Amino acid sequence: MSKSSQITLQDFMDISLDIVCVISTDGKFISVSKACKKIWGYEPEDLIGQYFIKYIAKEDHLKTVETNKKIKSRTAPTQFENHFIHKNGHVISMLWSAKYDPKKNVIYFIAKETYPNKHQESTSAKILLASQSIINGTQNIIWSIDREYKLIAFNDSMKLRFKRALKFDIRIGQDMLSVPLLNEDYIKYWKSLYDSCFGGETIEVEITPPSNKDLEPIWIHANLTPVYEGEEITGLVCHGMDITDKKKIELELQKQNELVKNILEHIPMGIAVHQISSGKKLIQNKDFSKTYGWPEDQLTDVDAFFKNVYPAEQYRNEIKAKILADIQSDDISRMKWNEIKINTKQGKTKYVDAKNIPLTHQDLMISTVIDVTEKVTNKREIEKALLEKNNILESISDSFYALDENYNFVYINQTALKIMGKEQRSLLGKNLFVEFPELQQSVFKEYLEEVKQRKKSAHFEFYYEKFDQWFDENIYLNHKGYSVFFKDISERKAIIQALKDAYEKENEILESISDALLVVDKDFNFTYFNQQAEKLLKIKKKDALGKNQWDLFDYAKGSIAEIEYNKAMQNNETRTFDYHNEPLDTWFNIRAYPSEHGLSIYFRDITKDINQKDKLKKLNTSLKQYTKKLEQSNKDLEQFAYIASHDLQEPLRMVISFLNLLKNKYENQLDDKADTYINFAIEGAKRMRQIIIDLLDYSRAGSENDELQQLDLNEEVAEVLSLYHNSLNTNKIDFQIENLPEVVYSKTGIRQIFQNLIGNAIKYADINKTPQLAILFTEEKDNFQFVVSDNGIGIENKYFDKIFIIFQRLHTKKDYQGTGLGLAICKKIIEKYGGSIWVESEFGMGSKFYFTIPKNIEA
Ligand code: ADP
Repeated sequence: MSKSSQITLQDFMDISLDIVCVISTDGKFISVSKACKKIWGYEPEDLIGQYFIKYIAKEDHLKTVETNKKIKSRTAPTQFENHFIHKNGHVISMLWSAKYDPKKNVIYFIAKETYPNKHQESTSAKILLASQSIINGTQNIIWSIDREYKLIAFNDSMKLRFKRALKFDIRIGQDMLSVPLLNEDYIKYWKSLYDSCFGGETIEVEITPPSNKDLEPIWIHANLTPVYEGEEITGLVCHGMDITDKKKIELELQKQNELVKNILEHIPMGIAVHQISSGKKLIQNKDFSKTYGWPEDQLTDVDAFFKNVYPAEQYRNEIKAKILADIQSDDISRMKWNEIKINTKQGKTKYVDAKNIPLTHQDLMISTVIDVTEKVTNKREIEKALLEKNNILESISDSFYALDENYNFVYINQTALKIMGKEQRSLLGKNLFVEFPELQQSVFKEYLEEVKQRKKSAHFEFYYEKFDQWFDENIYLNHKGYSVFFKDISERKAIIQALKDAYEKENEILESISDALLVVDKDFNFTYFNQQAEKLLKIKKKDALGKNQWDLFDYAKGSIAEIEYNKAMQNNETRTFDYHNEPLDTWFNIRAYPSEHGLSIYFRDITKDINQKDKLKKLNTSLKQYTKKLEQSNKDLEQFAYIASHDLQEPLRMVISFLNLLKNKYENQLDDKADTYINFAIEGAKRMRQIIIDLLDYSRAGSENDELQQLDLNEEVAEVLSLYHNSLNTNKIDFQIENLPEVVYSKTGIRQIFQNLIGNAIKYADINKTPQLAILFTEEKDNFQFVVSDNGIGIENKYFDKIFIIFQRLHTKKDYQGTGLGLAICKKIIEKYGGSIWVESEFGMGSKFYFTIPKNIEA
């Protein structure tokens, strides 16, 4: 085709009143006739190269795609209708004829307006047009994407938004996941939204899209709806609304709310908001629960509140009824309740001022509460104090009369009249001193005149002889004369007198106590001094009272007395001590009792006791020394006896054996005298040996080495008797031996005791009687007491003590053998173990030797 013929074709196309256009198979305009300007508002250049579908109303997209397929498959022209979007946004109904040219792979179209005359526009087209303009007219952004996230359609606001925020021109076919300048996270977020919507969900979100720095950030409410074709979702329609203003308000509200909440929390009063209809608590600050003294979760609604705060049912019902009536009255002044008594969880009573503010339209009740417990208690106390004061005033102003400046009665109250024994009528206008002439000469008149002169009130006590009564009088000057208040205080006077008497009586008691008594105040000034104290300290009461103790008795300063008094005062404790008063050379036993005023000091002279004690002490010391000396000499003696007896044995044995040798060899060879002398010498030596043996026994008796052991005395006595059984004819003796106890004792010791006592009973038997020997015992609290008795020769009274002394015997060795040590040995052993021995005897009748053994012997 030549160039000129091409132009001709274009010209030809342009002549057509209908639109003639060529469109590539991928849907782009290749050429368009000029009629498009008139019908669509676009210049051909505007359209060439653009997608055809872009200008077709959305609802026709599918149809157009379908039709496109049909066009391609047919040889004959195809006709169809759809709606084209005019440049000005209007929708225009178009009728199309199309033919496909497979050779050139293009489609030719001829299109004309179905209703070129606007007046003939169909309703549906009008609606379409209107909706199109609405879509573009709205400030909300609207867009639609296909499954590849590519933009299928969008409105002007969307375009503007991208332009302004990102300086970016969006176009149909724009991949919404690769819009430049949008950050990765934001895109990811959108992808997730798109994907969810592709999954069938309808999405609603609030977002702040990124935007140009010069622009204020905005809030968008986005709405994503899937578009179905049959079962399949082929695209999404998205709608975004700028909610920045709403959001701002919301944020502002939130801020306000927080502020209110903060204020509520910190305002120094309890606040709660309840829903009137349900009684449910909506808001409650901390102070509310704190003031009522109940945890928040126990005041959840009005019912719980009443039940807890007013536990007494009757009181609760009263309060509830009152509050309800007040609220229903709609009178705001009645919605305030002061000083209501409430109960805390701990059971404490409190008082509160409460207020309810009903917001009936909002179905809300605002309640405030303030703790006024302290105020109420204070008020009550003040009221009480006032009442008390009032009572006093009442009683003070019991009797009253008023005088004018010339002392004439102006007013007399009833009680005054009663005391005076007069009537109002008879006194009014009369002169005080005429009616009561005796007052002329009294102090009362003097006081009255003083009040007049000094212009000062007077208060005094006055004895009214005529009535034999004491009055407490108050005279005040007033502008017209005098007010006289008076009160009978005879009773008070009597009480004071009684108290004085009692005090004097007490004084007498204090005076009469034999101990001296001083009372000092905290500064040690004498406030009391009784007679005994005068006597002992040799100072007169009048010279002491009021004086300082340390001035008066300066010599006592620094002494034990001062130390003790200070202790008593400071530690508030009673102190007792002995003190030697040097100048008086007297010992005092002193007791100091602290009191809140100072000290009460009782003391007495103990000089005599002290001297006696002193003497006794000295005596005791010398006694102790003497005993010590005695013990020492005893020990020395024992030591001597032991050494002597022990060391003498050997030479004595020698003497005896040589004497025996002498006797054996020379007996009958010398003369008779010599024989006798030798015999005497042998006897003497033998006796001496016995004495030495006994002495050794004595010195050993109860020696420290003796062990204490449990002993059955029956066995021990039997053992001793067996010794005598061999040497004596014990068969002839009449024995009476009791069943003896067990004791803890020295074995050698007890044997020596029984051996000596039994031995003596046998030795000193009366030859004319059958000898009787009894060993008996009695058990006492701490001791066993034994008795060894015989019916022998007996002992004279005067020897009862003597026989226990060593070497003391009552008989010659001729009559009875012996060394006089047996009983001394017994005594030594018995006493060593804490017992005692004594004898009871009648001369010629027999003897009883008693001894004791303690049950608990200290080792
Ligand atoms: P001795 O028997 O060796 O003389 P004792 O010390 O045993 O010494 O007794 C002292 C004295 O007490 C005896 O000499 C005796 O005179 C008197 N005596 C002791 N026991 C009895 C007794 N059972 N009956 C009478 N006299 C007694």
